[in-house]
Amino acid sequence: MKAVRLYDALDLRVEDIERPGLPQAGYVTIDVRAAGICGSDLHNYRTGQWISRRPSTAGHEFCGRVSAVGEGVEGLAVGDLVTVDSRFYCGQCEACKSGRTNVCEHLGFVGEICDGGFAEKAELPARLVFKHDPSLDPAVAAMAEPLAVALHAVRRLNPPRGEAIILIGCGTIGGLCGLLLSHLHDGKLLFADLNGRRAEMVAGICTGSAVALDKSQARAALGDARLRYAVDATGSTKAIAQGIDLLDGGGAFALVGISHGKLDLDPNILVEREISLIGCHAFESELADAIALLPKLQPSLLQFSEVLNSLDEIPDAYRRLIDGRTNKLKTIIRIAD
Ligand SMILES: [Zn+2]
Ligand SMILES: [Zn+2]
Repeated sequence: MKAVRLYDALDLRVEDIERPGLPQAGYVTIDVRAAGICGSDLHNYRTGQWISRRPSTAGHEFCGRVSAVGEGVEGLAVGDLVTVDSRFYCGQCEACKSGRTNVCEHLGFVGEICDGGFAEKAELPARLVFKHDPSLDPAVAAMAEPLAVALHAVRRLNPPRGEAIILIGCGTIGGLCGLLLSHLHDGKLLFADLNGRRAEMVAGICTGSAVALDKSQARAALGDARLRYAVDATGSTKAIAQGIDLLDGGGAFALVGISHGKLDLDPNILVEREISLIGCHAFESELADAIALLPKLQPSLLQFSEVLNSLDEIPDAYRRLIDGRTNKLKTIIRIAD
């Protein structure tokens, strides 16, 4: 079967490899229907930072059809349409036992710790596999995982009714946070991105306003309303510092981007304006809720994404995305029906 495997930093190959045999006990085999490219796939390709086995079939955002079921698996059958959890948590450590599977002491991710979804077939523990509405477009079902990441960040931010929120960074997670808030929240939404066209596009889909990270622009967009809540999905320390500066007192700032570098921060700003900084990592139990939201969000999610039709296109797509040559938020590869 065809698979796209990462051998080392900057060494990604499309290969013909042996199909997986019958799944081991507790595992299922999935015929992959669609898979999405994540910013963390690109980061790992560029830096090799999370490579723990060589080669590894990349991809942790995917959906498919169950084609074989191992011994002892309950609740899944051949033919089920499913989407997957990317978090390969241990289930045994203190964090897992207390329900905090996203900060598992041995946490790894599908595609790194085990083979992922950029292949015709994938084999995963049944506990990471969830059925979805069979009428969903596979390109949408493949977005359950990043939607769960966004849902976790939105729930951690927990803005009270009516509060305005600025979304900093209009990539996948920033855009999905905006989309969720446009359905689940009633306050005004502002969108900032270095790529102004992208901010306009996302603001259009999420019925918000595109602004620069600038107090006068934010004020002009909000009228009398105050800006107390923000989400950073860039990981840029400069954007985070500018975002903190924008906030009026008494709110919170959720950080969901992976940063490079250190923040030069005067903690008095947080104290005097009583701003909570909230770190958000992957998701806990939000995947089932994200899957339930997919049918309603399907039209917007399709507008957010571009769709490629072959695994062969992935290495070129990586290079194009790293160079920023896309106006879409998510690149999905259709693999089978
Ligand atoms: Zn991802
Ligand atoms: Zn654990």
